[in-house]
Amino acid sequence: MLIVMKHGASEEQIAAVVRTIEEMGYGAEPIPGRRRTAVALVGNDGRIDPGRLDSLPGVFRVIHISPPYRRASRDWHPDNTVIRLPNGACFGAGEVVLIAGPCAVESEEQLLETARRVRAAGATVLRGGAFKPRTSPYSFQGLGEEGLRLLTLAREETGLAVVTEVLDPESVEVVAEHADILQIGARNMQNYSLLKAAGRADRPVLLKRGMGASVEEMLLSAEYVLLEGESRVILCERGIRSFDTHARNLLDLTAIPTVKELSHLPIIADPSHGTGSRRKVSPMARAAIAAGADGVMVEVHPMPAEAVSDGAQSLTPDQFEVLSSELRLIARAIGRDLAEPVRPAAVAGA
Ligand code: PEP
Ligand code: MN
Repeated sequence: MLIVMKHGASEEQIAAVVRTIEEMGYGAEPIPGRRRTAVALVGNDGRIDPGRLDSLPGVFRVIHISPPYRRASRDWHPDNTVIRLPNGACFGAGEVVLIAGPCAVESEEQLLETARRVRAAGATVLRGGAFKPRTSPYSFQGLGEEGLRLLTLAREETGLAVVTEVLDPESVEVVAEHADILQIGARNMQNYSLLKAAGRADRPVLLKRGMGASVEEMLLSAEYVLLEGESRVILCERGIRSFDTHARNLLDLTAIPTVKELSHLPIIADPSHGTGSRRKVSPMARAAIAAGADGVMVEVHPMPAEAVSDGAQSLTPDQFEVLSSELRLIARAIGRDLAEPVRPAAVAGA
């Protein structure tokens, strides 16, 4: 931390800052400049509340040098975190992971048909909400535990790994029994008791960026999970609120290289919630892979017009197949490739 003094701060004021830092138990090193002096605070392990120093006479401003998150930062962990799922799909090792499936699990037929089709097109992870966070309490809230049972069935039949959302700390255990990855949705990104409970469930966590959250806030939310001992956190850019109404959200592609610089955690993009309209999903998925995302999560429905939620942004299985072949080309152009398709028999141990 650097305490920058005002122009013309007196020797006594600088000495008072040094004394206060030493009283706080840290080292203080004045750095005289041509027009002003800064005092470096050294020996801190973690972020210090600047309150006591900020208000001392002659202090211009206090600057933090280290980010407020530690375990999530590249400083702490220079190598990429690699997250391998039981079916072999792997985040963070260079390959591009395709996660696809319906917004909500609606029925056995809907889920299994989608799962078979997306697997044939190259997806390795199946998405599908059993517990749905809906803006309106009158909208479909999900099939609940029956939806989880159907996801397990789809995993057994196709070998796809399963990611599904957990809405509250009380349901973490039951969702973890059925899911390979626990999803924490945008609305819950700063639900700290949920983050902590998810961090104790022994499952990788897919953490979606809140619609009004900064990248730093997303990394601080990841830090909550990491502090519980769960190192497998996958971040997800899913669009933020903007003033413009041309899309449901503004998919912040800059977040991808930004997270890559700041953190070792993998980051994927969700162009479905990030745009809200089918025609924009594939262009933004292609752009996300070109920008360096470790994967994409795309909503796919066998009959989007009949979907109970998010039909307008769901691709048909045919459209997903086209997208997958485009993503393979883009991945290869930047020295990556799509994750290998899973073989259900091998996964089932047959
Ligand atoms: C979802 O992925 O099903 C979802 C609800 O997304 P978000 O939390 O990003 O709105
Ligand atoms: Mn959805």
